[in-house]
Amino acid sequence: MGLDDDAREYHREEPPGKIAIETTKPTNTQRDLSLAYSPGVAAPCRDIAADPESVFEYTAKGNLVAVVSNGSAVLGLGDIGASASKPVMEGKGVLFKRFADIDVFDIELDIDSVDPFCEAVTAMEPTFGGVNLEDIKAPECFEIEERLRDEMDVPVFHDDQHGTAIISGAALMNAVEISGKDLSEIEIVFSGAGASAIATARFYVSLGARKENITMCDSSGIITEERVANGEVNEYKSQFASDVAGGDLTDAMAGADVFVGLSVGGIVSQGMVRSMAADPIIFAMANPDPEITYEDAKDARDDTVIMATGRSDYPNMVNNVLGFPFLFRGALDVRATEINEEMKRAAAEALAELARKDVPDAVVKAYGDDPLQFGPDYVIPKPLDPRVLFEVAPSVAEAAMESGAARTEIDLDRYREELEA
Ligand code: NAP
Ligand code: MG
Repeated sequence: MGLDDDAREYHREEPPGKIAIETTKPTNTQRDLSLAYSPGVAAPCRDIAADPESVFEYTAKGNLVAVVSNGSAVLGLGDIGASASKPVMEGKGVLFKRFADIDVFDIELDIDSVDPFCEAVTAMEPTFGGVNLEDIKAPECFEIEERLRDEMDVPVFHDDQHGTAIISGAALMNAVEISGKDLSEIEIVFSGAGASAIATARFYVSLGARKENITMCDSSGIITEERVANGEVNEYKSQFASDVAGGDLTDAMAGADVFVGLSVGGIVSQGMVRSMAADPIIFAMANPDPEITYEDAKDARDDTVIMATGRSDYPNMVNNVLGFPFLFRGALDVRATEINEEMKRAAAEALAELARKDVPDAVVKAYGDDPLQFGPDYVIPKPLDPRVLFEVAPSVAEAAMESGAARTEIDLDRYREELEA
């Protein structure tokens, strides 16, 4: 109860909520006001009408992201609706600002079906440099994101899908290295086949895992060709169907190298962990309770278990805040038209590389003085490590320029220096 009441108080304190708008130019004199608004404002308006890209020079568009939700899959709360999702979306804005100095308008839309939702978001394109879709339920979220990406010329990114994919992907690259495994050989079991699991499985394939080495389970067990043929699973799940007779998560985990949990807490036993291959990798990311606890997974076996969860009180926290602020920072700073696969891979690789470097004392102190050194209990950087911004954003910007997604070219060395300043 302590935390709940503190949170109510935190939000209620005057002014209500967590965000406000600030002006960035002088507004002290009549002259200032006639520049900010009529009649002076007409000059930049005319320029933009003549040269649409100058909107980035004259307005806040280039540092403004829409966090858009319909409240249909909010945190662990489910379909609580647009209005009830607003504290979460304001909170997302807080994180964008705190970690990457990006401004956010949170947009809660009271729209459930795909067509009108897409129309509403597309119509907002002139306002924003990017769109972060948030807490929209599967499978609608897949179609919504695909359509918006097609139709819009600014980055559209559904964080619940790709955030987890990118950050756990970084953890996976390092974990396979530590355990002496090979990405293209590992057998991976997914528990969960929703928004985050589907995107994560796709991303692991883009990093070099083999699709045929992935077994995916939903609440009814392994997704098999037979279930596809019977029309029991949606088109997104069916992309990961296995050619096996059937079975449940226990069957799927026997002999697997990697377990990826994006489902519900407490469904994996120590026996299931013991049935896995040598030195298993276990990413139990259900929130707030992982599929198996850190202690139970570690204690289940004598060899090295590399364990990650979504929790801040254990090592290897997979938290989206390691991704979206810096991905959008890099994308916005080259006025990117999209966040593509190359940019996502660049973010994951930058995170993985950063975890291999020595950690500054200030970061170690912020996390309670436990040693942080590349190894089973430190495969991804910590969210409060300021280096994440300097490493990830330039890597994303570089990938955008190389892949043709950037509208402008920037000098990366100078950019890195500016970020560090
Ligand atoms: P989602 O779209 O609702 O998907 C949930 C999936 O879990 C569904 O496929 C569902 O199966 C499956 N499931 C439910 N009960 C199950 C069971 N007993 N055994 C196996 N599978 C079961 O949700 P999501 O957004 O992907 O999130 C899933 C979980 O991951 C949540 O706990 C969320 O908090 C967590 N998550 C963590 C992070 C992180 O960074 N740590 C990031 C994203 C998500 P059906 O398809 O059959 O219904
Ligand atoms: Mg979310």
